[in-house]
Amino acid sequence: MDWIIHKAYYKKEESSLMLKKRILITGGSGFIGSHICRHFLQEGHEVICLDNFSTSSRLNVLDLIPNPRFALIKLDVTLPLHFEVDEIYNLACPASPIHYQNDPIKTIKTNILGIMNVLDLAVCLNTKVLHASTSEVYGDPLIHPQKEDYWGNVNPIGKRSCYDEGKRCAETLCFDFHRQYGVDVRVVRIFNTYGPHMHPLDGRVVSNFIIQALQGKDITIYGDGQQTRSFCYVDDLIEGIVSMMRMEDKFIGPMNLGNPVEYTILELAEKILSLTGSKSKLTFAPLPMDDPKQRKPDITLAKSKLGWEPKINLEEGLKKTIAYFRNRL
Ligand code: NAD
Ligand code: UDP
Repeated sequence: MDWIIHKAYYKKEESSLMLKKRILITGGSGFIGSHICRHFLQEGHEVICLDNFSTSSRLNVLDLIPNPRFALIKLDVTLPLHFEVDEIYNLACPASPIHYQNDPIKTIKTNILGIMNVLDLAVCLNTKVLHASTSEVYGDPLIHPQKEDYWGNVNPIGKRSCYDEGKRCAETLCFDFHRQYGVDVRVVRIFNTYGPHMHPLDGRVVSNFIIQALQGKDITIYGDGQQTRSFCYVDDLIEGIVSMMRMEDKFIGPMNLGNPVEYTILELAEKILSLTGSKSKLTFAPLPMDDPKQRKPDITLAKSKLGWEPKINLEEGLKKTIAYFRNRL
């Protein structure tokens, strides 16, 4: 693996000469991270993908490995980071409830120590950071749709808290590093996102329902299926993330990024059944603890500051995602 380490450590000036950036993406082999890696490689930048592969595998970025501008490094973000880079995207953190609740203490460490290490590196290098926060900072929201100035309704001691409170504390650190050390940081609050390169065993609703439908297994609805989510196709999200980082205005955020069209989980199941032509039956299981009843982003801020809004509707995005999983299975 020496060549990989070597690529990551060579001098920053070499990449600046080519007017290209060297970009560090933590959690880069995960679902969203792998799309960000692809995006920047296509733009001609160098990408360092850092991951501990806890919820992803090298297979997710296998096609990128031959690219000489791509370096894949197995490393835990809770350890100090020593890289020379121009920009950092911090995505390392399990995002699916079953994954982040599997080792909650590790989830908190990943959120808090991870962003601290990223921000410490940003201070040393005077580098810009984008931090992937989440709609979960709003908890089970009492305000609908959710605007960035809503402080949320989070249970601090429940099973989701390791993620929700970890992400809230990570946001606090971003703002404190900005105030105390002037770090140029951008905080985006990502709402439910789906698309190709989600892990098939990820446990999130879109991948679960598609795989169940394709395999003719029962569709597992938690609760009565009347809870709502608003689903954003990954290409739209990546466009929002990149515009946030490239924005001239030094606006730190937080900025909601998500698709404001809201569906019940039952409606999602029915849509997936119809698009796959599956004969799977719906089954109902108990709703997990603290599962938010409703979620929908207010994206007024993203529209006005970035001129951004999602373009891909649920049906179109699901068709692409179903095609991906059909191929994988
Ligand atoms: P994912 O689980 O597919 O990707 C997370 C990646 O981080 C994985 O590759 C995993 O191996 C890696 N990772 C986890 N802990 C790590 C550690 N300690 N050190 C190094 N790498 C580590 O999830 P995703 O959907 O791609 O989410 C990426 C980011 O976006 C996460 O921070 C998540 O909280 C945030 N987010 C995602 C969504 C969504 O709907 N997908 C919504 C809100 C926020
Ligand atoms: N859900 C479901 N069946 C599944 C997986 C999830 O009914 O197989 C529900 C879950 O209880 C929640 C919604 O779908 O109400 C979204 O779940 P997901 O884990 O995708 O995201 P999050 O809860 O973090 O928004």
